[in-house]
Amino acid sequence: MTAADRAELEACQVKVERLRLDFPILNRPLTFGGHDRPLVYLDNANTTQKPEVVIDAVVHYYENANANVSRAIHSLGEESTRIYEGARDRVKAFLNAAHREEMIFTKGTTEAINLVATSFCRLLTAGDEILLTEMEHHANLVPWQMEAEARGLVLKFLPFDAQGVLELDQLPGLLTPRTRLVAVTAMSNVLGTINPVAEIIRQAHAQGVPVLVDAAQAAPHQKLDVQALDCDFLAFSSHKMGGPTGMGVLYGKKAWLEKLPPYHGGGNMIRSVWLDRFEPNVLPFKFEAGTPHMEGAAGLTAALDYLGEVGLDWIARYERLLADYALERLAPLAGLRVLGAAPDRGIAVRAGHHCAHPLARKLGVVSSARASFWFYNTMAEAEAFAAAVLLAAESLS
Ligand code: PMP
Repeated sequence: MTAADRAELEACQVKVERLRLDFPILNRPLTFGGHDRPLVYLDNANTTQKPEVVIDAVVHYYENANANVSRAIHSLGEESTRIYEGARDRVKAFLNAAHREEMIFTKGTTEAINLVATSFCRLLTAGDEILLTEMEHHANLVPWQMEAEARGLVLKFLPFDAQGVLELDQLPGLLTPRTRLVAVTAMSNVLGTINPVAEIIRQAHAQGVPVLVDAAQAAPHQKLDVQALDCDFLAFSSHKMGGPTGMGVLYGKKAWLEKLPPYHGGGNMIRSVWLDRFEPNVLPFKFEAGTPHMEGAAGLTAALDYLGEVGLDWIARYERLLADYALERLAPLAGLRVLGAAPDRGIAVRAGHHCAHPLARKLGVVSSARASFWFYNTMAEAEAFAAAVLLAAESLS
């Protein structure tokens, strides 16, 4: 890294140390061999820690507003509904969406993609094609495999090269007259590659094909704008961006959400029910069956407010510098294989296959260690990580 980048990274440490105080868990020690050691949390791609404002919002919800939404006609019900629907407005602003009813709350990215796969594929017939990439998380692969098996659909895959970059030149050949949907991750959870989703969407739309974006890894690290992207669906998880677990978002263009049949059946998603049939509710309730995650919505609002204050542009810049610094520290290690060397890369400790078996197979690795930073990670932690990897390499050699 250049001297200027290094100086910028060092200058950021004061802000980072201040932000770390917002996260109670980062102050807890871990005990190893009878000694307390500082926690170095580098598993942020898996889930992030929560700032106090998010924890407070969840506690505040239970202490002041707990009641079921929409159906309860009393003060607490109104308060709860205000908080829950307020989260929809907050997410709409976060994504720069056109309509609030385009925000569907789910329990996470996985459920959001399952919703689209199940409902969208009900409109398809045998022989229709879904185009994915070879670097999808299981959450954006298995739901399509299940639908393909049930309905005789064909799955196609855009490959990636040795650097972990999608081979975009193959896209025109893979978009055929039978392609009905493209589903692609905005950022790989293994390689850290930031994919050119805007370009993929442009080419797919030129053929009249809608696009779903898996933004589970992108949402915590970069600004998203669904109108600028012009994506048809986009999914992300609250827990990967400082918000509560069990909460997620499916953004869908209104025209598409109106066209799709409901996913889960139950209360809230209906307008009228007879013994032999039902009439679905209007958007967004049509896709929100049952009692939703009200406190999750309260916490997600707090998380998005908090991230807005920290600044997603600053987060993206800081993490890039920190990742460069960590890679530089690791450089002396002979035999180190950095998985994913895309020039446009986010950040990449979790051991294993990272819920992407096909990708690991293509890379020829059984298991890998993933260090994933968030903005609260420091230079000292990147240093500690590099030292630990060097030590592990020595002890194994
Ligand atoms: N897609 C990607 C790219 C992911 O990294 C993850 C989580 N590891 C998911 C989808 C699934 O997210 P969740 O488990 O929150 O539903």
